[in-house]
Amino acid sequence: MSDLRELYQQTIIDHNRKPRNFHPLTDADHHAKGHNPLCGDRLELYLKMDGDRIQDASFTGAGCAISTASASMMTEAIKGRTIQEAKSLFTKFHTLLTTPMHEPIDVDGLDKLEVFSGVREFPVRIKCATLAWHTLDAALKDDRSEAKTE
Ligand code: ZN
Repeated sequence: MSDLRELYQQTIIDHNRKPRNFHPLTDADHHAKGHNPLCGDRLELYLKMDGDRIQDASFTGAGCAISTASASMMTEAIKGRTIQEAKSLFTKFHTLLTTPMHEPIDVDGLDKLEVFSGVREFPVRIKCATLAWHTLDAALKDDRSEAKTE
């Protein structure tokens, strides 16, 4: 457990310091904005689709370390996936974050996203971790309104 905790902290720090895919996507065909009023995190997500497959994903914005790291890791995780695969990944990720600390979690298919199980220690930060995913949902629907974690 302490290993995972350390990995969690290192991963958040690393992705916050050097966010991956952190730029606007000039040829994006899907785009959405997200806002987590609880913490003040804001981000914009860009997607380039190839049929129902996410060919490319990127984001911009400003927020806390957890929201930035989560968006960074999400863009890495969803590239090359179909809409259906991305949605099922969100479901798994959400289940991971909302499972009580002492209960076992099913991490099958989550890969690196597993480190976010550390967020369970800080329930108030769960919305920071899910903001990018809610925004992804909005972008896939091409929803022009702002995605909110509330
Ligand atoms: Zn936050």
